[in-house]
Formats: sequence, C-alpha cells, structure tokens
Amino acid sequence: MNDNYNENEIIDENYVNLMKQVINYSLNFYNKDINYEFPRLMDSNGDPLVLQPSLFPMVWPTVYFTTEDESMSSVPNKLKPYLKWKLSSITANTMKTVVTKSGFRLLRDKNQKVYKNWSAIWCKHLKSVDFKTIKDYQKVNHFPGSFHFGRKDKLWQNLRSMSAKHGFEVFGHFHPPTFVLPHDWTQLKKYWINSGEELVFILKPPASARGQGIKIINTFSDIPKTSRTKLKHNLKSQYVVQKYITNPCLLYNETKFDLRVYVLITSIDPLRVYIYDDGLVRFASHKYSDDIQNNRDNQFMHLTNYSVNKNNLNYVPNHDINGQTGNKWTLKTLWRYFNHSCKEVDVEAIISSIEDMITKTIISCEPFVSKLVKENVKSRYSCFELLGFDIMLDNAYKPWLLEVNISPSLRSDSSLDSAVKIPLIKDMFNLIGHQIPPNFKRMETFAEFICFNRHYYSAVLTDEEIIKHKKYVSSFVDNSFAETAEIVTHLTDEDIRILMESEDEFSRAGRFKRLLPSAKSRHYLKYFDQLLYSNLLLDEWEQQYSDNREKGIERIRELVSSRHHMFYNNSELFNTFLRNFQINDSFEENDAVLVIRFFHFDYI
Ligand code: ADP
Repeated sequence: MNDNYNENEIIDENYVNLMKQVINYSLNFYNKDINYEFPRLMDSNGDPLVLQPSLFPMVWPTVYFTTEDESMSSVPNKLKPYLKWKLSSITANTMKTVVTKSGFRLLRDKNQKVYKNWSAIWCKHLKSVDFKTIKDYQKVNHFPGSFHFGRKDKLWQNLRSMSAKHGFEVFGHFHPPTFVLPHDWTQLKKYWINSGEELVFILKPPASARGQGIKIINTFSDIPKTSRTKLKHNLKSQYVVQKYITNPCLLYNETKFDLRVYVLITSIDPLRVYIYDDGLVRFASHKYSDDIQNNRDNQFMHLTNYSVNKNNLNYVPNHDINGQTGNKWTLKTLWRYFNHSCKEVDVEAIISSIEDMITKTIISCEPFVSKLVKENVKSRYSCFELLGFDIMLDNAYKPWLLEVNISPSLRSDSSLDSAVKIPLIKDMFNLIGHQIPPNFKRMETFAEFICFNRHYYSAVLTDEEIIKHKKYVSSFVDNSFAETAEIVTHLTDEDIRILMESEDEFSRAGRFKRLLPSAKSRHYLKYFDQLLYSNLLLDEWEQQYSDNREKGIERIRELVSSRHHMFYNNSELFNTFLRNFQINDSFEENDAVLVIRFFHFDYI
C-alpha cells in the first residue's frame, strides 16, 4: 500500500465539509436519495456549494457559476489555486464578473508557468491546428471549423447546397436569396435580369461584422466591377450579395429591428444544441421608408447594429429590462409586447420557426466542423461554442436568417445588456460544466473524487463498440428507425459515458432549452450528411426516456453500479468500493480516508 496520505493535509475545514457533501451525494445514489434540481447541494445557509455533484456515481463534480446578485458558499482555500481563467482581448467585463464571483482567478500574468495551467478561456477563433495544443482538461469557446457558421460566404454556401439536396422548402425558405461573389456573378446577373421587378440587394464583406463595409444597392451596375472575376488575394473582390428585405416588421417609432438569439453547441459528436430563452432586439434609429432610392446611404435606417446606431443623436438607450421604449429591448419584452398588443401575432409559431431555422443551419455546417474536430480535438470536454443568430422579422412576422456570429459580444453597455448577458453567461458555464483540473490530483486528499479524468471524455472504443457503431449506422438507411430502437437495449461503457454526460448537462441547462437531441428532433436526422452513431444513440434515448428522465437516469445508475464505467476493467475495485459504502447512513470522514487510501493504493 502506498502511504502517501498525510493526515495533516486535512486542515481546511471548509474543504473537508465540501468534499464530504459531494462524496456523500454520490454514495446516496444507492439509497435513491437524490436531488435532481441544479444546484443540488447547499451549505447550512442555503447557499449553493462551489462544487456540484453529477447525477451519477463516480463522475466528477462541476464548478458552480453564480452572479453578483446571488450568494454562494465560500470557495475553500485548497481549491482556489486550481481555478484559473485565462484572459483574452475579448473577455468582457460581464464575464469577468461571473467567473471571479464563482471563485476563478483571472490570469493577466504572462508568467509562462502560471499561464500554462489555465482551465478555461474565452477567446477569438483559433486556427484548427491550434486546437491540438489545448490540454484535454482545458475548455475553449470554439470548435475548429466554426467559421463555417461565422463567415457569411461559407454559411450561404452550406445552406445553398443543403437546399439543392433536400429542397428549397426545407433549407431555402428561411434566408434571403444570397450570392457569393465573384463565384456567383453569372447566377446573380441572371437572377437580376429574370426577376422583372425592381430589386434591392445588400452588399456585405464576407468576414466582417458590426455593419462595416455594408451597402444597399438597387441597380446591377452598383456591384463593384472587381467582383466579376476572381482576383487572387484581392479581398475587395469578395462580397456576399443578399436580397434586401424591403418589407420589415416595424415597431418602435416605425423602425426596423433584428433579433439576437443565443445558441449554444456543447458537443459535435454527438451534436447537442441549446437555445437561450432571452436575447436582444436591436432597433434602427431612423424611421423606415420604402423609398430606397433616396435613402440608400442612410445607415441609421437600414442597419440595426448597435455599433452603428449608437452614433445617431436620436438613439435612445433603454435601461429597463421590461421597457418597450428605446432602441434596444429584451427578446422576452418583444414576445410579451406581441402577446399583449398584437393579438394577430402567433409568438409560439415564430419561436418554433426560429428553432427550426437554427437546427437546420447547424446541421448544414456540421460535416465540416465534425471533420475538423475529429482531426484536431483530443477530448469531448474541450470545446463548446456560443453562437449569436441575427434574425429579422418581415411584416408578415416571418423570421429570416441574416447571419450567425461566433464570439457574439457579451459586453454590456447598459443595465439592460447586463440583465440579459450576465444570467446567460452563468447558465452557459453551468451547462457546459467546468471541472477541477488534474494537476490538483497529486496534491490533495480527496482529489480522486473531484478531478477531471480524461478517460471519461476520450476513451478508446473496444472492438465490441466498433462493431455496434457500424451495425447501427449502416442500419439507418432510408430514414428507417425500424432497427434503431434496440440501440439502447444493450449499452456499452462508452454509450453509458455519453448518456451520463448528456443527462448531467441537461440537468444543468438552467434557462437553455435543448433543441438537439429532443423528443421532437428525430425528423432532422435524415439531413445529416454522415450520421454519427452517437446521434442515433441519443435520439433513441430521447424517444424512450424524454417523458420520464428519472427512469432513464435510474437505469444508467443501475448499470454503472454493476458495470464499472470508470473503473477500466477493474470491477473488483468498484465492487469493493460499493460494498463498503452502499449501506451507509452517514458517511464519516474516516471512511473517506479509507477510500482515499484505497485509491492511492491502486492509482498512485
Ligand atoms: P454585420 O455582420 O456587419 O452585422 P449583418 O449581415 O448582420 O452584418 O447585417 C448588418 C445589418 O444589416 C443587420 O443587422 C440588418 O439590420 C441589416 N441587414 C442585413 N441583411 C439584410 C437583409 N437581407 N435585408 C434587410 N436588412 C438586412
């Protein structure tokens, strides 16, 4: 036996109490004494603990994120050195507030050693190869290849090819006709000439933001001549030319507006997508007019970007989250306004069209991202992506997709911004689940119970698993689910890990709603270019357990108690562990010490 354990280590009462509660929670599974609600564990004052346990035994707890408005149990000193957040040029103040309140230290220091061991960062997009340098316990807010959403030209190309494959009525109807120049010059010309109506287009640089470089045009000759032919390395020749929506829905002071909808992708394999229940409504600051010819250059009329309109003297800030005056509202306020003041508007139908548009847009980019993730990312734990969908409503309340932003701004310029973005940040980080990095492991008693374990997120498939994957992927032909029902009959260890991760995440969703997978998302599977096994697995799980999640969770718990999901071919070890603790009514510190010794014996 390795006797590295040192009793003098346990001096931080706060730490010991936290550990006891987290470990006890796991052990109580076997007595079925479970709190499904998140946060699950509180201190004696009723404040959430800094670590929150998984729904499953021997799966590591996640850090609880909170806001300045809420109180949280204090972070034990022993944990503090391991909660490190690396700053970047786009880490907004709102985010700094949330992460420091939740116990993280911000790393401004360029000292390489300190800097190296960060566990989370919020940064601009990285090159695909740079993801190879991300350690498996570090979390980054991007996937390689997410420029397929974020670059306007890529997004339209992806949507257009899906539209050609699956039909305009499925993939083409929710975005305005769009051409990417110089490639589509001939098609654009044909479209313009054949349309026989007076056309208005909006010209956008493919990779810009905040309304920069945008022009409204209504004659074909306004298109820059340089965009006719592909000039090598000439960015000026590249444009996205999109049909302008000339009949926008008009509200506050008869101005047009767009919606910023927040969407979170937590995993690509399997694909898991969530939508947040609030967002922003950004109004233009000049009354809209049909007379495009005489107002072509009036950016305050045509563009709804805050960065453009804040420069208009007529811009009216709104500091009231429920306020229906001013150039920015919350999304919830807009839905409320429609429900109360415009009875003809079917808000549920608008939301459902938006959800459909988001799901299809993500599926259309999935093959590219999925390929790059496979090539460059070691662990399922490492990546997630918050997307900002920009959507406009026309005067029939039909939503139109304008663009998707990777790294949507989380900065706050007003109390209204903060009221939307701070809870969003909190829920996002709780949902994705940060764990204590493994460098903690060697240092502290109890560490085995709380530290990140890479095997959970990147285990190598067994032969049996490879055969199962092939069988079900090839059985899913012609969109037939005849055989997939059995995919959840015999679950492999990797199946169980994916299901645990997914159920844990779902239980921490806060104000996010899951779009993929869901009980209603099955009909989207036929649109995947190459459907991954994990998507079939989660889809079938939703079919069978979405109306009774507790039953599904219970089933996984029973499986892990007999199947050693995290004990890698060492079921004896796991069974001994269970025998010792299954029947406990109160878990004593001494017991924990025994378990620690037990683990040290085997693993250190
Ligand atoms: P950026 O990335 O520069 O913000 P967007 O595509 O979001 O580019 O366009 C900026 C603004 O222009 C939008 O917020 C919207 O107000 C307006 N806009 C963009 N596309 C259209 C369109 N097809 N029809 C009408 N207005 C549009």
